[in-house]
Amino acid sequence: MSRSDTSTEHAPGSGVRELDVAIIGAGVSGMYALYRLRGLGLDVRVYDQAGDVGGTWWWNRYPGARVDYPGGPFYCYTFSEELVREWDWTERQPDQPTVLAYLGHVADKFDLRRDIQLRTKVVAARFDEAAQRWFLETSEGERISAQFLIAAVGTLSAPNRPDIPGLDDFAGEVHHTGNWPQDRQVEFAGKRVGVVGTGSSGVQIIPQIAREAASLTVFQRTPQFALPGRNQALDPALVRDSKENWSEVRRQIQEFGRPSSLVPSTRSALEDTEEERQRVFEEAWQKGGVALRDCYRDLVTDPVANGHVAEFVRSKIRETVRDPAVAEKLMPEYYFATKRQVMDEGYYEVYNQDHVTLVDLREEPIETFTPDGVRTAEGEYPLDILVLATGYDAITGALRRINPVGRDGLALEDKWAESSRTYLGLSVVGFPNLFLFHGPGSPSVMFHMFYGAESQGDWMAECITYMREHGMATIEAVPEAEEAWAADVQALASRTLFPQTASWFTGANIPGKPREFMVYLAGPRYHENLREVAANDYEGFVFERARTGADLEPSAVRG
Ligand code: NAP
Repeated sequence: MSRSDTSTEHAPGSGVRELDVAIIGAGVSGMYALYRLRGLGLDVRVYDQAGDVGGTWWWNRYPGARVDYPGGPFYCYTFSEELVREWDWTERQPDQPTVLAYLGHVADKFDLRRDIQLRTKVVAARFDEAAQRWFLETSEGERISAQFLIAAVGTLSAPNRPDIPGLDDFAGEVHHTGNWPQDRQVEFAGKRVGVVGTGSSGVQIIPQIAREAASLTVFQRTPQFALPGRNQALDPALVRDSKENWSEVRRQIQEFGRPSSLVPSTRSALEDTEEERQRVFEEAWQKGGVALRDCYRDLVTDPVANGHVAEFVRSKIRETVRDPAVAEKLMPEYYFATKRQVMDEGYYEVYNQDHVTLVDLREEPIETFTPDGVRTAEGEYPLDILVLATGYDAITGALRRINPVGRDGLALEDKWAESSRTYLGLSVVGFPNLFLFHGPGSPSVMFHMFYGAESQGDWMAECITYMREHGMATIEAVPEAEEAWAADVQALASRTLFPQTASWFTGANIPGKPREFMVYLAGPRYHENLREVAANDYEGFVFERARTGADLEPSAVRG
């Protein structure tokens, strides 16, 4: 597009709001980016569709929603000791209202709200090459021009509504866990409730519904390995110590993604005798959380080690569920811990209750929803309320739904049609001045999410400062850097069992999505890499100077 084609969009008086940085999303990452970039004196504004800050913690207010791991007092921002000291976490797995209150507190403490525009969806984003700026449109009809666009859209924020025949004909209430009603409580008491999905969300909500509903029918496609969360009150001494030694705790999070007390064992499961292994597994099971996944170093890398722990969990399911036929339906078959680990509080016990039915969709698939409920090959299940705990188009889905258009009219959906490539998980070739938080190819969901956001946000802030100091208008990754990064992501994954399991990590839960492992598995190395790339004048990126009327051809500068 020529410069004259677009000049009206950005001209003063054209009704376009001019910003230095537009951020999409007011969750953990978007709030940090606002805090950090506003601190540089930039004109920054955050747009979010939700009614308040908090991202996933605003949307996921279903009963039972709580942090699973790593929990309090470490599930929080790490950058401000003052913030750490003034907030008191009380549970190992803080519940959703507590986390949302914490994020609201952060927004107030750092006076973020004045630059956050809520109930506003960004509906279009296009890079204007002549102006070297992003041009956005919102659901409120606003038009925005910003030099930088930051996607802080969340990794698990684009709900997956399954394509099951007749779903729209069902006459009862339908709620997705990731889009739970904000204005009222869903009343399960006395109702016939169905739940589709047994991932983390399903496993959290199912025991809560069982407590109230007249009947509960769980429609399970793939049985999961759920581990006892064993949520408990935090030891006040742990809370006090972590506050007093926060800089050391932060150093450990940076080095390991968690405090060193929670770092996995360095021992192989194959070094121990069967008896010793059972003792180690049992101890970890009693400890709860992901202790079982972390009690040996090779449980997600060695198929034999994995087989031992998988069998241990299956034996626990058999012990807990009284009806052997139901227990068999609950037996997971994939490699243990190669889906995001599910934590439970009384999940398997639910199936010992008379008013709870487990429908194994592998044996009796859903034929159709009807106005009254569900019809499977085996029969009818009348329902009043249907809960879809069917997950998300993870990691790439939220941004793909906005579908930014980069250079030469390239749409992100097309760019990512075969493979969701990025450089460093935060930049995409063809999309100058677009930065992603927790994008595909970053450690995202497999490292400390708050620390990850801080590290990426600091990198973005330093990069923008560098560009201003050097008179650069745009930055874009080069194809060779993106290719090498993608190869590194896959090389790391191939040393584990993760790619062998159909999961949202691999895009397998969304029909038509590219099948590839999307997480960079070496978190500490990643953050070190970010620092090195910056120190080496942004190796792997190319910059463009600001275009002027007299200088329409940019002078490209390679980092
Ligand atoms: P999920 O792990 O993707 O689970 C979705 C469930 O729905 C699976 O059991 C899936 O079966 C089933 N499903 C999907 N489409 C279906 C269909 N068409 N028919 C039948 N079943 C279908 O989603 P999630 O439970 O919402 O969890 C997503 C992630 O969010 C978690 O892994 C976790 O990272 C995060 N989360 C965190 C917390 C927390 O406490 N911090 C809580 C909840 C969620 P298949 O397995 O066969 O695909």
